[in-house]
Amino acid sequence: MDEVTPTPAAIELVALTKRYAQGAPAVDAINLRIASGSYCCLLGPSGCGKSTTLRMIAGHESATSGDILLDNRNITNLPAAGRGTAMMFQSFALFPHLSALDNVAFSLKMKGVGKAERHKQAGDLLERVAMGHLAQRKPGELSGGQQQRVALARALITQPKVLLLDEPLSALDPFLRVQMRAELRRWQKELGLTFIHVTHSQEEAMALADTMVVMNQGLIEQVGSPHEIYNAPATEFIARFMGGHNVIETGVGKIAVRNDHMLIAPSEPTAPAQGIAGMAATITDVEYQGTYVLLGLDARTATGSTGVSVMLPEAAFAQRPYTLGEDVHLSWHAAHSLRA
Ligand code: ADP
Ligand code: MG
Repeated sequence: MDEVTPTPAAIELVALTKRYAQGAPAVDAINLRIASGSYCCLLGPSGCGKSTTLRMIAGHESATSGDILLDNRNITNLPAAGRGTAMMFQSFALFPHLSALDNVAFSLKMKGVGKAERHKQAGDLLERVAMGHLAQRKPGELSGGQQQRVALARALITQPKVLLLDEPLSALDPFLRVQMRAELRRWQKELGLTFIHVTHSQEEAMALADTMVVMNQGLIEQVGSPHEIYNAPATEFIARFMGGHNVIETGVGKIAVRNDHMLIAPSEPTAPAQGIAGMAATITDVEYQGTYVLLGLDARTATGSTGVSVMLPEAAFAQRPYTLGEDVHLSWHAAHSLRA
């Protein structure tokens, strides 16, 4: 068992750049340090350079310039197989005609490892992900969760220090996706490996990551825990991309306020508390979301009208329901407004 027990590694990217052709680089001199044994999510909209970054780390794409260090070892120009990384692909990409055992043993077979030895190692890994009893099944005879565990074991057979995952959950139906991400998180903690997981879903990244890296147009906009990034988005782009925030023009700059930090009242208070700003708004949408009610509003800001959302606990809404077309007053505590 010990021979297949992986150890995690730290990854460092130094001015890492990828230029496919003329024009803006796909990845533009990014610097990043990912702690050993952490779950890191690269998050950003389509085309921002996430997959290119991951493929450069994997060795499936060459870097135009810059360096990739794994535990201080420069792996920038090593072949993919010699890096200590392994990749898990979208929808697991298992071979349908091979048993779970042979799927896991596949890369050892390619390396010329004898059948008895590769089956022993593959069997050990399947045990480790609680799939030993299903080793002879083919992917089509396994549930989505079981397939994911086989894919995990297959990636782990090369004893990687870092597991790279490119949108592994995005082709799954929403229910399975939420189930599978909980499993991924559990396996990462249990194995103690470094995971780098690419996703365009802020919800997925927040659910999984110790460290979130938000990318935009080939650059890193912010690095932090989900809590840090959600509570203090560093830029307007991040506030908008993370959702749940209103970006409001106050006349002296833009601020971001979480929609559950917005205060709503039937009319402007006659004596507004110190440090509270505000504006008039009209209700345009009322949406029940179970424990919350999401209100859409048209707000009159310093520079014109803008769409704003307010998340009210169901009990607060029940006490004072707002109706479509109603004129209200919005405000927020100064401490809850962030410069965006
Ligand atoms: P993401 O994974 O964040 O959606 P990618 O890393 O795939 O983004 O792509 C980043 C940018 O590089 C995009 O503009 C994309 O069109 C471009 N790109 C990606 N792969 C190639 C390629 N093989 N050749 C040319 N351009 C590419
Ligand atoms: Mg991609």
